[in-house]
Amino acid sequence: MKLLEERILKDGQVFPGNVLKVDSFLNHQVDVDFLNEIGKEFYRLFGDCGVNKIFTIESSGIGIACIAAQYFHVPVVFAKKNKSKNIAADVYTTKIHSFTHGKVYDVIVSKDFLSKDDRILIIDDFLAQGCALKGLINIIKDAGADIVGAGIVIEKAFQKGGDEIRAEGIRVESLARVKSMSDDGDIEFCD
Ligand code: 5GP
Repeated sequence: MKLLEERILKDGQVFPGNVLKVDSFLNHQVDVDFLNEIGKEFYRLFGDCGVNKIFTIESSGIGIACIAAQYFHVPVVFAKKNKSKNIAADVYTTKIHSFTHGKVYDVIVSKDFLSKDDRILIIDDFLAQGCALKGLINIIKDAGADIVGAGIVIEKAFQKGGDEIRAEGIRVESLARVKSMSDDGDIEFCD
């Protein structure tokens, strides 16, 4: 998505450890008009796939998923990072290693909101090592639902997550695929 690549080049900042910060429009301040264009693009890609639910993870995924959902006219379910020591019985759960926080979270989703009859589109902000996406995929598999695919805003294609998940036969559509980034701020995209 040309518009997104241009925005990343204009406003993205590269931090040590291969972290791309896009806080001015996606991860801290949110440019809602811009997210609308992203939502439309996800609808263009997945609108004819019979999606009945969008699934994401807190926190940055929620805004993106909700705006996209306005085009699909379907509910959004988000996986929650479990804060209590105990995990309730009526939830699906998996562990996710957070790339940005260097922590492992238990994430949970109530069994009330995912079922085997669902056709699910996953939406998230970034795809890097793939831990977040794999965790969401595990939960959907546990629920017995169908995975239509994953819509990702920014994939760091030089990290392994995208290739591994596509190799499992899951459709992953990333609106911008970063081929490389350097500590002095140069960012290159895949063709
Ligand atoms: P993964 O599990 O694929 O390694 O990382 C995915 C999650 O980590 C995303 O949901 C996002 O929150 C965060 N993340 C990974 N890499 C980056 C990055 O370069 N920049 C930002 N802002 N978030 C990232």
